[in-house]
Amino acid sequence: MGSRSVSVGLRAMFSMLTPNESSFERVEEVPPYVQQATPFFVGLMVLELAVGLLKTGRSVVTISDGVTSIAAGMVSRLPLLLLRGCELSAYMYVWEHFRLLELPWDSAWTWWFTLIGVDFGYYWVHRFAHEVAVLWAAHQVHHSSEYYNLTTALRQSAAQQFASWVFYLPLALAVPPSIFAVHIQLNLLYQFWIHTELIRDLGPLEWVFNTPKHHRVHHGRNLYCIDKNYGGILIIWDRFFGTFAPEEDKVIYGLVFPIRRYESLFVQLHYYRYLWKKSKAYKTFSDKVSTFLKGPSWKPGKPRLGDHVDNPKVTGREVPHRPSWSLPLQAYVAVHFLLLLWTYHELFQNKMMLSQSTLLGMICYILLTLTSLGFIIEQRPNSGFLETFRCVVMVMMQRYNCLTPPLPFLTVPTEVFS
Ligand SMILES: [Zn+2]
Ligand SMILES: [Zn+2]
Repeated sequence: MGSRSVSVGLRAMFSMLTPNESSFERVEEVPPYVQQATPFFVGLMVLELAVGLLKTGRSVVTISDGVTSIAAGMVSRLPLLLLRGCELSAYMYVWEHFRLLELPWDSAWTWWFTLIGVDFGYYWVHRFAHEVAVLWAAHQVHHSSEYYNLTTALRQSAAQQFASWVFYLPLALAVPPSIFAVHIQLNLLYQFWIHTELIRDLGPLEWVFNTPKHHRVHHGRNLYCIDKNYGGILIIWDRFFGTFAPEEDKVIYGLVFPIRRYESLFVQLHYYRYLWKKSKAYKTFSDKVSTFLKGPSWKPGKPRLGDHVDNPKVTGREVPHRPSWSLPLQAYVAVHFLLLLWTYHELFQNKMMLSQSTLLGMICYILLTLTSLGFIIEQRPNSGFLETFRCVVMVMMQRYNCLTPPLPFLTVPTEVFS
């Protein structure tokens, strides 16, 4: 990687690119900033771990929670192996058929207008994701960690992208897709670095920008934190629409009812099952529909967003859940998770050369591995059986050249199969 691309990659993490270097005429020319950010994600997470160790004497991340968060990030991007992002596809359709005017792609005004427009769209995507239960079923994934560190940023929902595209469509009436494609990525990348407890206060920047201090509140389950600070890059939207709350009492992170689970598919999907069961318990059609369309805390007879005073009280002495599992098991999960990360990285690098059926097979293998590692973390009784099966699949895939080990000595000798 050249020093210029390192500079661009690093500045993209903070949305600090200039219009000059990040305006493109065609969508195909737009760099995959998010995909290129992997080394910066890893570098900043290692830096946070090191600084956290020096500052507090303990690790800011645990293997069980960190693996579950990064796994959610991996699952959230699996659909992109088969489909172009929903947001961009829908956006291009509206641009091609319904645009009212064409802002010039090479104007700095268009670039700045789009930065603000995408961030405004994100505020509403995010607010609806908290205030409409069926959308919360997807977004709760991001809030399901009881920790708050850079790995939490990667804990994303696979389903959310299938609803969020609607909110950006007004921009497609005037802004070229190539400029939107830049900002939808920069907006997402900006939100990585704010997931840390190590940056306490950024002075005057706190007035305008979303910062670690503001976003910590957003992840809190204390009463004063619920449904606050939705902003992406800018916090001004919350100040304007009355959803801003400053950081006060110690923030206790996570869901109001913590799930304390580590299996990827459960983390992604459990809330849909809960909603279905909740709606079945109600008699009237209107209450059943309201279960999905009103706030997650709504109950019959309560206001649209429910009454948060009914939530379990937060004392400030709550500690995040930690499964009790042996050190060798932790090392085993860490090594196999790193091997999977390598496979995942290779898959995205080579996706253009692979058939749809190979891609589908690889998606199944990734989900199988994440499920099996989740079973081990949760110490489920059938985890040994599932992991044995998973290892057989892994070895067979290597045999048929579907997996490239990160280091040559990890290759299983051919004799093993003969
Ligand atoms: Zn949120
Ligand atoms: Zn967050």
